[in-house]
Amino acid sequence: MKAAQISKAGGDWELVERDIPEPGPGQVRVKVEACGICHSDTLVKEGLWPGLQYPRVPGHEIAGRVDAVGDDVTSWAVGQRVGVGWHGGHCFVCEQCRRGDFAMCVNRKVTGIDFDGGYATHVIVPAAALAAIPDDLPAEEAGPFMCAGVTVFNALRNSGARAGERGRGARHRRTRASRCPVRAPDGIQHRGDQPGQGQRRASATTRRA
Ligand SMILES: [Zn+2]
Ligand SMILES: [Zn+2]
Repeated sequence: MKAAQISKAGGDWELVERDIPEPGPGQVRVKVEACGICHSDTLVKEGLWPGLQYPRVPGHEIAGRVDAVGDDVTSWAVGQRVGVGWHGGHCFVCEQCRRGDFAMCVNRKVTGIDFDGGYATHVIVPAAALAAIPDDLPAEEAGPFMCAGVTVFNALRNSGARAGERGRGARHRRTRASRCPVRAPDGIQHRGDQPGQGQRRASATTRRA
């Protein structure tokens, strides 16, 4: 397989050949079709994340297909289209996980930071980090949804706005949804501005790229 890695903080990109790894228990191997570029990738490039271990392959806007599954993985099948984002898995047992707040898991992993990410032809990820993506969604469009897209989506779904609320009967929510544009870096901004999603301007303020 090929991967684009960073070997040290501030180091240059290196295109390297590696053996294709096998997925362990609870893991899935994804054959990468596309991986978006996120500003947060600079955390790896410049060594701005505590405890980073090098070499590291960045990339957390992954779209591809399941290529192999670990022995105990029953929920995903080879050939299935999947995406992987910033959230690289959680433990299911800590207090936050037991409340369903997986993003705040004390043992959570971050794709492309705690383990190698999608700037590669193949990537090994925890099964818990996968999201199914539709067959007809091009990989280069699906990838950015895994970070910029989900950031906007989470902000919207917690805003009270609902898809299709454009009629007079939903005046209050419509007003909230249309007056507050997403204020965020480019990738997130343009995900929030997609027309035809029930709001012309998305209602959210987001912080992380
Ligand atoms: Zn990102
Ligand atoms: Zn947890």
